[in-house]
Amino acid sequence: METAIREFRDRKIFLTSEIEGGNAYDFQKFPGGVYSFTPKRDPGEEYSSQAYYFKFSIENLQKDPTDVTITAIANFDEIWKGWQSSIHPTIWIYSPNHQKQPIRLSSDRVRATPRSMSINLTLRSYETLIISNMLTLSYTKLVNEVENVANEYPTFLKLTEIGRSPLENPIYSIKVNPKIDSSNLFKILIGGTSQPNEFGDYASLLVLQQFLKKGAEFWDDFSTKFSIEFIFFQNPDGMIQGTNMVNSKGENLFFSWDNDRNSSLKENTAIWDYIIIEPPNFYLEMHSFFQDHKTIRPYTFPIELLSEKRDQRLYTKLSKNLIKFSNGMKEEIHIDQPYFKDTLCYQLMEKHQTLCMQYKLHSRNSISHTTQTVWKVFSEILKTLKRR
Ligand SMILES: [Zn+2]
Repeated sequence: METAIREFRDRKIFLTSEIEGGNAYDFQKFPGGVYSFTPKRDPGEEYSSQAYYFKFSIENLQKDPTDVTITAIANFDEIWKGWQSSIHPTIWIYSPNHQKQPIRLSSDRVRATPRSMSINLTLRSYETLIISNMLTLSYTKLVNEVENVANEYPTFLKLTEIGRSPLENPIYSIKVNPKIDSSNLFKILIGGTSQPNEFGDYASLLVLQQFLKKGAEFWDDFSTKFSIEFIFFQNPDGMIQGTNMVNSKGENLFFSWDNDRNSSLKENTAIWDYIIIEPPNFYLEMHSFFQDHKTIRPYTFPIELLSEKRDQRLYTKLSKNLIKFSNGMKEEIHIDQPYFKDTLCYQLMEKHQTLCMQYKLHSRNSISHTTQTVWKVFSEILKTLKRR
């Protein structure tokens, strides 16, 4: 049970889950600079193979560098299933703007269960690190970045609050070049998944930031054919509460876009009502993998959902090019596929003939690698759309 020791402090070290998205509990100390925690299982795990991800912070309370061992204690055998990358300690540590390579242990020093795992760290003088097995930036930090970007380009970007979560956290849109008449342009929409541990919002922001860096000549050329908009934070409460499939009411937003259930989910209703005012021609949704045996790839949706031959042909071309870019890897969603038929992509494609794709990144890749990847994905799509 989660009788929740969410903080631990001794003379050397302060461990806490009282940070945004923090979800580790039951911190314990063992002899020899060894500390442990239990990862919290996700309330939405029945929808996915993602039993949990963990996030907490560790602070060196001393002036001297400190060596520590951190052990995750799995309390049931299946807990690491699908989490092979978690056993690979290179992705254990994520601290915003700061990636640090941990030292791999030859074997676990706390053998709480056969499936526990550890990393060794050297913390610098008074250093604080956020430790997570996923790339999970905080909602607050990302909101700041989204607002900063919008403030930097007050006429070129329009930031709009399009709704709020049950805990009253805003969901945003950023429309590029809002003053031009976009009615005859091909509208592109980019957004991040409502699964907070998959850094979809961050990936979307990376696309926007690189788009802005391209400068006036690129934008002018782009704007002759296209308009573009971004939506951020499909699940703000989940980001804040450290869940990976649900919002603060325990609702799975990602698989609940069908009409009946959609009507009762606050975030989805707000987003859907906003999007369909001017439905996009193309929607790209950013996701990520964490599993060792998975690589970046698109998720494509059934072309039978598109009634026009022209749209079907374009969708096929888009898929082919993205699959080629992803070394042949793909996931194909089928007509009426359980769960996936109730995603935003499927519903937009079926009801508004939007060409929709999800793109899976990977949390083991570095931020600079991911930055390049998202721009290449966007460029591939643009290249195909230009030739249509
Ligand atoms: Zn996903």
